[in-house]
Amino acid sequence: MTDSSRDAIERVAAAIAAARSITALTGAGVSAASGIPTFRGEDGLWKNVRAETLATREAFENDPRLVWEWYEWRRTLIRDAQPNAAHHVLAEWTRTRSASLITQNVDGLHERAGAEGLIRLHGSIWHVRCWDRCPAGGEDWRDDRVPIGTLPPRCPHCGGMVRPAVVWFGEPLDEAVLNSARAAAACDVFLTVGTSSVVYPAAGLIPDAKAAGALVVEINPDATGTSHVADVTLRMKADEALTAIHALTP
Ligand code: NAD
Ligand code: ZN
Repeated sequence: MTDSSRDAIERVAAAIAAARSITALTGAGVSAASGIPTFRGEDGLWKNVRAETLATREAFENDPRLVWEWYEWRRTLIRDAQPNAAHHVLAEWTRTRSASLITQNVDGLHERAGAEGLIRLHGSIWHVRCWDRCPAGGEDWRDDRVPIGTLPPRCPHCGGMVRPAVVWFGEPLDEAVLNSARAAAACDVFLTVGTSSVVYPAAGLIPDAKAAGALVVEINPDATGTSHVADVTLRMKADEALTAIHALTP
């Protein structure tokens, strides 16, 4: 750790200790230390296909089986993974500091670490939905089998296709979920952790927090789409940075 990152960690720890409200926004990088590939890293490739071309309605319409095979690969990786120190520190802050936690991740690792009140912007890889949204299958339901069965799986109500209950590129977010995330962005200290901040509207929460007067802290080994908004930048891995901050916040 450099002297400047040590200073930055002390500054963030002091701000967290003094804050009335803390919010963290997480992305795929928070789960990287658990062995789950990010979308934009090289290790995120599956069968040489980019995630951006699989996580869309068009991809599912063209080849639902291919998209489901990709989700089964991801489900297997995630099922065998464990939450890392970043998930544990953030979960503890939700319990002991009433911190708000907003995630773009669909993997369920924040939940497994015991996070309270998690705001899931992009849904859950462990939930499914009727593709046709038939009346009887209107609500998402949990189906965490790996493998899930015949692909694509069938709706028990109408016999049509079932899709993963996640937000794909080009799809709108749930309005109520987005509103609660925007409300949480108005806080004293806002941490953005392990997200490339190029996917909107999630990335818009960072300038929202800044505009509301928050101290914005970015934790990411690389620059992001919103690095220019950050007051404090920690070019570190999420688990290492959050462990170091946590050690200094009594
Ligand atoms: P992304 O793949 O676009 O960006 C990941 C970011 O994490 C990058 O900026 C990278 O520099 C950073 N990073 C890599 N290793 C890190 C580490 N150890 N510590 C901290 N940062 C690290 O991911 P995104 O910004 O979350 O956006 C992509 C979309 O992909 C999201 O909507 C999300 O739903 C989905 N996604 C989810 C998962 C998951 O649930 N685990 C995994 C991949 C993608
Ligand atoms: Zn149905």
